[in-house]
Amino acid sequence: MKKFDASIPRKMFWSTDVGGTDFCPQCQGRLENESHSYLLMIREGGEIQPFIAGNDSGYFCPHCPVVVLKYEEFAQLASMAMSEGYRGKFTVMGIVDLDAVPEEKLDVPLGDDDNPIPLVKFTNLSDPVLGRRRRMRGKLKTRRKRKHSRNARRSRKKQKQK
Ligand SMILES: [Zn+2]
Repeated sequence: MKKFDASIPRKMFWSTDVGGTDFCPQCQGRLENESHSYLLMIREGGEIQPFIAGNDSGYFCPHCPVVVLKYEEFAQLASMAMSEGYRGKFTVMGIVDLDAVPEEKLDVPLGDDDNPIPLVKFTNLSDPVLGRRRRMRGKLKTRRKRKHSRNARRSRKKQKQK
């Protein structure tokens, strides 16, 4: 069990903007380190790719919904997802609440049509990567249409059995 519930929407600050990861920029409380998974958006050339990674570079406030992320470590993580030597842009969208994934979906890849990413967006998300172009690569959307047709198929089957 995590001490800091991933399902709570939090404000995100970069360590480089608030002078480190020791104290909460909002209430001055002492931050606590815990490992979580994050959804990053990586922009390389004209393309935006989602990238999920877990690390222990998040520092959480025990008193208010604030998390401070170590910028250098996320920048390094993002650069791993980019082509070698390429310096694209990245943004962190929020925390991925892995506990929200239903048990029967644990072996389905996250972001699949059937298993949308349980993203808890940061409440103060400013979006240098997605800002101008709203288009993302399809995968993150849940496709309801398909679900419908599957139900239809199921009911057809039932009728046959009668
Ligand atoms: Zn605080």
